[in-house]
Amino acid sequence: MQITSTRGISARLPVAAASVTAAASAIANLWHRLPSQCAVCRAWPASRICERCVARFAFRRHRCLTCAMALPPDIAQCGECLLHPPALDACTAALDYAYPWSDAITAFKFAGDPGWSGTLARLMLRAPRAASLRQHAELVLPVPLSRERLAERGFNQALLLARHLALPGTLHSRLLQRVRHPSAQSRLGRRERLRNLQGAFAVEPRMAHRLAGRDVLLIDDVMTTGATLQAAALALRGAGARSVSAWVLARTA
Ligand SMILES: [Zn+2]
Ligand SMILES: [Zn+2]
Repeated sequence: MQITSTRGISARLPVAAASVTAAASAIANLWHRLPSQCAVCRAWPASRICERCVARFAFRRHRCLTCAMALPPDIAQCGECLLHPPALDACTAALDYAYPWSDAITAFKFAGDPGWSGTLARLMLRAPRAASLRQHAELVLPVPLSRERLAERGFNQALLLARHLALPGTLHSRLLQRVRHPSAQSRLGRRERLRNLQGAFAVEPRMAHRLAGRDVLLIDDVMTTGATLQAAALALRGAGARSVSAWVLARTA
């Protein structure tokens, strides 16, 4: 397995380097590992995360069909989705957003280490119904970043994951666009977030015809309230998509 140092990536992405915060650097240092060493338990030789750590930390959970909230096995949908049916036809997540995945995602996203994408994408295949969502998708769309955020980070983490996951000919990275990035999103609840995100996404007008009657699958790294995916799904449905589902790496509890 190849290891790329954070410094090496930053050198190639000078704009991204400026945005690496002290906290992210600290985590990146923590997550520095020797080639063939597990980033979690330091076992050697191992892939980036060893099989024992995957078995220990990547629990397979039963999840709500439409928001991926962890649920007891006999319940199909959570109360919130029953009360307020979401714009997503289906939604699944591979992991809980908790240790060690929260650290791995930070290293992947903020410390400029896209070398994580293959490892994390493989974990996404463990999500409930992942195989059928992937098979069913006619268009696979990574949740886009705003232009400013993309310039700051240097890459879109959702696109890096989607490249590993989309079946041939289904990936479209420019069809869905982020028009603006809302501010102070983290302090808002689910419904306030959605209101804050209205108009945040748009479909590229020259490609909109490709959506008509199609089954779309959104890919993202982390889902919190689901408001971002919800806003993206509304934009895609408004442009004619037949169904919109979402497949995320990790979901907060
Ligand atoms: Zn390990
Ligand atoms: Zn739900």
